[in-house]
Amino acid sequence: MSFVKEKIMQYNKKSISDIEVKGKKILLRCDFNIPLDPTGAITDDGRIISALPTIRYLLDQGAAVIACSHLGRPKGERSDEFSLKVVGERLTELLGKPVKMARDVIGEDARRLAAELKWGEIMLLENLRFHAEEEENDPEFARQLASLADIFVEDAFGSVHRAHASIEGVSHYLPAVAGFLLEKELYHIGKALADPKTPFVAILGGSKVSDKLGVIVNLLDKADTLLLGGGMAYTFIKARGGSIGSSICDDDRLQYARDVIEKAQKLGVRLVLPSDSLIAAETTENAEPQVVSSYDIPDGMMGIDIGPKAANEFVSIIKDAGTVIWNGPMGMFELPKFSNGSRMVAMAMTDPRIVSIVGGGDSAAAVRQFGLEGRVTHVSTGGGATLEFLEGKVLPGIDCLLDA
Ligand code: ADP
Ligand code: MG
Repeated sequence: MSFVKEKIMQYNKKSISDIEVKGKKILLRCDFNIPLDPTGAITDDGRIISALPTIRYLLDQGAAVIACSHLGRPKGERSDEFSLKVVGERLTELLGKPVKMARDVIGEDARRLAAELKWGEIMLLENLRFHAEEEENDPEFARQLASLADIFVEDAFGSVHRAHASIEGVSHYLPAVAGFLLEKELYHIGKALADPKTPFVAILGGSKVSDKLGVIVNLLDKADTLLLGGGMAYTFIKARGGSIGSSICDDDRLQYARDVIEKAQKLGVRLVLPSDSLIAAETTENAEPQVVSSYDIPDGMMGIDIGPKAANEFVSIIKDAGTVIWNGPMGMFELPKFSNGSRMVAMAMTDPRIVSIVGGGDSAAAVRQFGLEGRVTHVSTGGGATLEFLEGKVLPGIDCLLDA
């Protein structure tokens, strides 16, 4: 790990390999915000698997691990739908040792389990977002969380861009260091950022349009080419005067989209939208997709994947890139009929000459679904965090850790 550490360009932070963890209770912030299907079953356990090296190391060293995470958006209230129990069960299988599941976060059950936890044992707190104080970064909530442990280990790379109580707040009460996953992420993304092989191509897609629009303007300073696909594209296509039918769109940001298009032109950044789209009236396996111009989508129809022409255009741009960062699927890849665009982009990124980084929970799931995980340079566990890191923003969950 020291090899990895030396290479972190932006940050030089202490990690778990720099401190004594034996005989210590560790509050370990993980990112177990995994996708669940409507029955509540895990559809992709990549983020749990990514947390294993740190957990195994801590347990082997003789620490006691109090793991915690958020899951979904339960809005500050307890609900079975967002319980971390399903994560505890999967983690138990993966570790081959029982993970004790607390029924609350800072309540009586969590405190009792934490007090009784033995060295080499692990427990999991309930969903941090059952408390509104988590996202508010409430100091008292952070203090109570911290009081369960002796040391804080930050390993939730996917959340380090958020100044929440379990990410930043606890560092005011406990010595705070990085876990192995965080180190690995900083190494790969830091390297791509500090010394990018050019051309630098950023690909954005997915459905969290409003969340991601903000980063686009900042990426313009870094990228040579920006490819927009998935649900992200239609706000831009509408802003350019296209008809997008019932495709997803952020109508409040049309002017913003026009500004981005103008800024890209000024900076000489190539901004590419999908020329054609795969459209359908319904988003199910029974849909009968049609290929049309993305600027001419009939009423009642929705753009669900980039079209074949757009996919080929994206592929040829990726082939000429030095570095490619991809965040957000090109279509509803979960349905085979609408997975072509994402598959073609993912395939093109496996060219060994390209430094290829995939970020975002669903994008990472897509790459895994296509069986291409081992063939890209790095599959990041972060979405928003990856993008904000790329923008060069200060990430509160990293900034608060002890300096090496
Ligand atoms: P990530 O998790 O990689 O950051 P997002 O969460 O932003 O990505 O978006 C992922 C979701 O976007 C997927 O579930 C996919 O089905 C959906 N999606 C992709 N393209 C479209 C589209 N054109 N319209 C609606 N949803 C889309
Ligand atoms: Mg997502």
